[in-house]
Amino acid sequence: MPEPNPLMARAAEHHRLVLSDGRTAADDRLAVDRSPGAVYDAVDAVVGIADAHMRRGPTEASSLACKRGCAHCCHRPVGAPAAVVLRIAAALREQASESELAEILARVVSLDEKTHGARWSPSERPPHPCAFLLDGACRIYPIRPFVCRAWNSADEGACRRALGEDVLEMRFDLFQRTTYAAAEQGLKAALERRRMDSADLELTAAMRVALENRDACDRWLRGERVFAGCEAKPDPRRRLPLA
Ligand code: SF4
Repeated sequence: MPEPNPLMARAAEHHRLVLSDGRTAADDRLAVDRSPGAVYDAVDAVVGIADAHMRRGPTEASSLACKRGCAHCCHRPVGAPAAVVLRIAAALREQASESELAEILARVVSLDEKTHGARWSPSERPPHPCAFLLDGACRIYPIRPFVCRAWNSADEGACRRALGEDVLEMRFDLFQRTTYAAAEQGLKAALERRRMDSADLELTAAMRVALENRDACDRWLRGERVFAGCEAKPDPRRRLPLA
């Protein structure tokens, strides 16, 4: 029997705690009613829980290579559940002007035309800048998906190489990665409890549907398959470890 790794054991315990906190927070919001507002509140609450764990945690930004202007990771495909996609679309409708919204939608449509349906391997889906990447920064940073919050790296070169290589070799902050991944799992567990779809969607394709259809959230809540064809297609060789 190999010796238990104390770091991974601590990360696994942290994962359980954040997942449980996230599930409880989302469940409380979703219990109010089956409405778009309750879904958006649930997503925001879970992000708040994860952010609070991060503030109390050991992650030192100075130990990471991540900084404004470095955007290798924003050239990778992103997966997010429908609730998160719909929350981003609602926030953009609230906060962006009509011309900004039209510009964002045009960028989303243009990227979707190039990437729709492709499996997430470097050969089948070569790196493309995310539709929300503007001047090296994320246009939706405060409302970005959990996977974008979880991603981090101690080595900028590894992020660059990871874009073209089949197998990822990364050094990263396990606490940050575990916190946001566990938070998303807590949200998904609460959605599943209410019989709402929690499967990962490909961000660009799903954003196109959410932005082109004002009633997407109502229809999704009624159980319509509004995001059919937008399913995430991750390559299992390119998964990083989680606690
Ligand atoms: S949503 Fe933002 S953080 Fe995520 S890949 Fe796109 S630009 Fe990068």
